[in-house]
Amino acid sequence: MKDNRGNKVILVAHCLLNQNSVVLGRARRKGPVKELLDELIKEEVGIIQLPCPELIHFGVRRFWQVKEQMDSVGFRETCRKLANEVAKAVRELERGGVEILGVIGVKGSPSCAVTEVNSGNWAGPPLEAKEKRKVPGMGVFMEELSLLLEEVPFIDWDWDNIDSSLNEVKSMLRGQLGG
Ligand code: SF4
Repeated sequence: MKDNRGNKVILVAHCLLNQNSVVLGRARRKGPVKELLDELIKEEVGIIQLPCPELIHFGVRRFWQVKEQMDSVGFRETCRKLANEVAKAVRELERGGVEILGVIGVKGSPSCAVTEVNSGNWAGPPLEAKEKRKVPGMGVFMEELSLLLEEVPFIDWDWDNIDSSLNEVKSMLRGQLGG
């Protein structure tokens, strides 16, 4: 049966559509990232908002953290479960003929980064946390999700370079990024 569906879907890190989920002090918009959302609406793709693993596991009052702190057995288990639920929906959509264009993560995030993640030897008193640095790698949630969606391209939203992020999103929407 034919209807109006476009059969194209993109997966987006939760906070790119809801900045209220980010760690306190880090929200850059009141709600969604409008410039990203405008692009997705313009192209009329379906949008799956990924769960925010930090909100679910640590809550709204969590401290800023680096990957080494996030990468605990318990948090990884949470991420694995959440990723499994997402993958089930993705598999079912694919069975119905929907093309999954890709996943947009958040550069630097210890959970949702795709290319570069905040790293540091942080432990104990937060006020004594020293400098963090960005190192190549994924956040814990994206690591788990990418294991389940190997054929899907992943990109980062980079708050330090919005124009280049939008260009990459446009390439993803045109299906020009390989998985
Ligand atoms: S980057 Fe991921 S974990 Fe961090 S606020 Fe956004 S959705 Fe939540």
